[in-house]
Amino acid sequence: MIQVQNLGKKFGSMEVLKDITVDIYKGDVVCVIGPSGSGKSTFLRCLNRLEEPTSGHILFEGTDITDKKTDIDRHRQKMGMVFQQFNLFPHMTILKNLTLAPVKLQGRSEEEAKNQAMALLDKVGLADRCNAYPNQLSGGQKQRIAIVRALCMNPDVMLFDEPTSALDPEMVGEVLNVMRDLANEKMTMVVVTHEMGFAREVATRVMFMDGGYFLEENEPKEFFEHPENERLKGFLGKVL
Ligand code: ADP
Ligand code: MG
Repeated sequence: MIQVQNLGKKFGSMEVLKDITVDIYKGDVVCVIGPSGSGKSTFLRCLNRLEEPTSGHILFEGTDITDKKTDIDRHRQKMGMVFQQFNLFPHMTILKNLTLAPVKLQGRSEEEAKNQAMALLDKVGLADRCNAYPNQLSGGQKQRIAIVRALCMNPDVMLFDEPTSALDPEMVGEVLNVMRDLANEKMTMVVVTHEMGFAREVATRVMFMDGGYFLEENEPKEFFEHPENERLKGFLGKVL
């Protein structure tokens, strides 16, 4: 689904991503872990060109989205993104937050967008909050809404950047549960996370980023039980 070829990213003279080559397959749940500042967010943001790569290519469903001639907006609609901060529109109801982009960007009818939004809200247990405003919801509820908002665009892949890091501890579980359900439905997902339990249980592959490289990648059991790279061993020693 996504082919990353020799991806590099510099901010000024600082090289944040260094020659990254990785393939993400349909149905993959890739968890990316690594220390703060290692380039995880930049990697994720390059995948939908929220950051412009400095070098290399990214093919999404066969199209080179790093090509300046590519209509990035069209492809970006197929990539849902969920951030640490929820970025909901505060002056709109939940339902409006959910139907705005499908109607405006995808030309779908209000009626159809609303039906889909309500069905998805129901799945995450928040249908009764459809007429609330974001500031009337808890952090965990807002993040579940942010996930639903991305899903309302019918994406082919979901990108998550530390979706539970800004939440109070008691709200982490409800968001991870929604993500686990998505994974069970075979959604393709790339998840930057510090939730090692989630990575271990849900990921098809776990990747360790440090210093702008992926230093190790494996299926979760091997990754956590038999890490090889010394820096990964050190990192796991601190977080587990
Ligand atoms: P992570 O998500 O792993 O914590 P980031 O991708 O956010 O790491 O950042 C990697 C490095 O790039 C950090 O040193 C960070 O300060 C730097 N960086 C990130 N975004 C920018 C930016 N827009 N301009 C300059 N430096 C940046
Ligand atoms: Mg980050």
